[in-house]
Amino acid sequence: MSRSPVSQPARIAPLAVLPVFYRLTGKPVLVIGASQAALWKAELLASTGAQVRIAAPEANDALAQLCAREDASVRHLARSWHEADLDGVALVVADVEDDEQAADLAAAARRAGTPVNIVDRPAFCDFQFGAVVNRSPLVVGISTDGAVPVFAQAIRSRIEMLLPTGFQKWAEAARNWRPLVQARDLSLQARRTIWERFVNAAFRHPDRTPGEAERADLLAGIEQQERNPALGSVALVGAGPGDPELLTLKAVRALQSADVILHDDLVSQEVLDFARREAERIITGKRGHRPSCKQDDINALMVSLARDGKRVVRLKGGDPLIFGRAGEEIAACRAAGVAVEVIPGITAASGAAASLEVSLTHRDHARRLQYITAHAKNGKLPDDLDWKSLADPAATTAIYMGKLVVAEVATRLLEAGMAVDTPAIIVEYATHVRERRFHTTIGEMAGVFAANQLDGPCIILLGQAMSEARPDRPS
Ligand code: SAH
Repeated sequence: MSRSPVSQPARIAPLAVLPVFYRLTGKPVLVIGASQAALWKAELLASTGAQVRIAAPEANDALAQLCAREDASVRHLARSWHEADLDGVALVVADVEDDEQAADLAAAARRAGTPVNIVDRPAFCDFQFGAVVNRSPLVVGISTDGAVPVFAQAIRSRIEMLLPTGFQKWAEAARNWRPLVQARDLSLQARRTIWERFVNAAFRHPDRTPGEAERADLLAGIEQQERNPALGSVALVGAGPGDPELLTLKAVRALQSADVILHDDLVSQEVLDFARREAERIITGKRGHRPSCKQDDINALMVSLARDGKRVVRLKGGDPLIFGRAGEEIAACRAAGVAVEVIPGITAASGAAASLEVSLTHRDHARRLQYITAHAKNGKLPDDLDWKSLADPAATTAIYMGKLVVAEVATRLLEAGMAVDTPAIIVEYATHVRERRFHTTIGEMAGVFAANQLDGPCIILLGQAMSEARPDRPS
């Protein structure tokens, strides 16, 4: 089917350096110098199984110790480096005394086509070392591109704490058992599903050393996939109001296993950053009065992707079940026999209330909480709103999509008997860094929209409970 109503945003922002993981087993590398820094690099290189030669006129104890390693992977060339030493080595790492020596070495390395790193002289380096978290074969590297290595170290400590040491055993087991999966004729999708089961087990039992039971489980997963190859699915996922920290763990998990993400343009980039990098992203741009995909096109696209075996995440601002047209999407999936799951999110009203530190159902003021849309199918104010309930002095009302019709809403509320000084708070971009809050009343709220350029999504919270909101600091 045609995909004309969609556009593809960039999948990644500009990248300072490319993190690659370079296998050095058995390869010759050259280290120049016998300083502490040079010897640490030599040790690091030797830990990858590289054949390390150290060019340094003088030996010292630490160097002698390295050369005495059992695997005999470090050799001392008791002299300065020669140009010929650079030929055929995978990498050269040096600690030199000044920029002149650094420049000589960098030029020689370039002639030999060997990537070079010179300790503490970034201008002469082709590559840098990251901070390392080692759960080999699971390896995490962290870089700040030299901007602030202390930051990288601090992040390394955090990740050290976060990553159970037992993951090493799980990663090792995966490597050993990989051939069991590779040997079967399975689709990519089925393979992913099998390994996801394995990873879920690792997360559940990080301290267990995977053994026979886990291997049997992997085989059972393979057989299940062979009997019943993975079908695609759709998850309607709530992205929350903007702050990515407000995503649920379940939403993050869905984003990380998605093949395709169909998202509204309300969804922030920071939220999308949680998605699996390889996932295709498609904007469906359904913002109020802008030109956008028709709902039918979105439904059809979603269903056809799932039928192709894809795991589709339909990512919606706030909670998918609140003014998100989820009903139509769920119906389309059901009609097509596509499995559908809903992962709730934090709705804009909750996000705004949290920013305002106000209870939407404050005991002194509110007996009823109502969410309304001020936007009917035709884009106008719906004509079947129950104005009497809305004017109830013991109610809190959250108005979604109210921007264009706010003056009419205020007039109708006043006509229905609501006090003109009833507190109203407008929150634009609730929970985003760009959030703005306007404390006003129903009598004046239309004027606030007119006086301020409120281009972002806005929620209006109405009712006496709003008198308890955190007062805004003057900006
Ligand atoms: N499913 C969403 C609502 C979608 S309707 C939810 O649960 O929040 C779109 C409307 O939601 C917008 O017109 C606006 O009124 C409101 N909205 C969504 N995100 C918002 C935000 N970050 N700040 C303020 N209002 C927001």
